[in-house]
Amino acid sequence: MSTVADCVFCKIVAGEIPAEVLGRSDDAIAFRDLNPQAPFHVLVVPLDHHENAAESAAADPASLGRAVALADQVAKEAGNADYRMIVNTGAGAGQTVFHTHVHVLAGASGMTEALV
Ligand code: AMP
Ligand code: ZN
Repeated sequence: MSTVADCVFCKIVAGEIPAEVLGRSDDAIAFRDLNPQAPFHVLVVPLDHHENAAESAAADPASLGRAVALADQVAKEAGNADYRMIVNTGAGAGQTVFHTHVHVLAGASGMTEALV
């Protein structure tokens, strides 16, 4: 598994930084976002370090499918049948942590407003 020394999500994967973990699979971890933008705001992070989802898809396409399955599992376990997933790619799109992650958001009053 590839890791990057100064990557905050690699440190969470390694247990070097604490996180509120809601679920795990063989190759991903789900934990609460430190700065939640909705009542339910979880990050699903493949354990293997790649810079963004496209890089993960190129290296291991099925890993993204498994990340979506984990997102669905933790959302539903928390009582959220309906949720929104966001994947930022590149600083210009708001990506600040350059280790692939899926935001899973639910429970906000504005959640039904269309962004796309
Ligand atoms: P992005 O802007 O898409 O790269 O999302 C990165 C997310 O990681 C932000 O929503 C941050 O609040 C979150 N984040 C950064 N550091 C941590 C941490 N140590 N634990 C949990 N979430 C974090
Ligand atoms: Zn990393």
